Amino acid sequence: MNITHKLSSKKQRALEILIRLKREYPQVCCTLNYETPVQLLVATMLSAQCTDDRVNQVTPALFARFPDAEALAGAELGELETLVRSTGFYRNKAKNIRGACRAIAEKFNGEVPKRMELLLELPGVARKTANVVLANAYGINQGVTVDTHVKRLSKRLGLTEQSDPVKVERDLIRLVPQEDWENWSIRLIYHGRAVCKARQPECGRCLLADLCPAAEI
Ligand code: SF4
Repeated sequence: MNITHKLSSKKQRALEILIRLKREYPQVCCTLNYETPVQLLVATMLSAQCTDDRVNQVTPALFARFPDAEALAGAELGELETLVRSTGFYRNKAKNIRGACRAIAEKFNGEVPKRMELLLELPGVARKTANVVLANAYGINQGVTVDTHVKRLSKRLGLTEQSDPVKVERDLIRLVPQEDWENWSIRLIYHGRAVCKARQPECGRCLLADLCPAAEI
């Protein structure tokens, strides 16, 4: 089979997967709690190596004390570290959050920029965080969010052989229609949490089993 055929059959499979996931998870949303794009950016930065539930436990006190970019830009680092401590890697996270908010306050009038290349200039912001913010805060699909669930499921489903998130994203961008890039990620995340778990995927009750090369039935 030549590469074109392989790509088109992968595309068909990706589309069928998406159709089934939309049917299974009709109402989905970002599971981080936030009220503004700045708060979503901060919550997403905190979610690295941490569950959304844990982040949602931390952010009410954090945003009550420091509600916007200007407030976070002026935060005392020790206090910020204490507030985000339970999300892990708290020293780096606090430093990056303050650094990113300083840049947002100074260069962008306190508003999170709407362009990928500007977001990537902020300390601690990589493509995953930028994609989440652009899609959920602004409705802009500039890429596919690749978190640990999207990476694991896309690989198991035979849609990428890559492990590096940027390369996984590059593969998915070729397979999934642009208007569905965020749909893809968010539904894969739901399915990863509910069925295709990291340690014990429940292939016996998976609606994608007949499309999945990794199915263990
Ligand atoms: S069949 Fe198994 S490995 Fe494949 S997506 Fe479903 S749960 Fe994951």
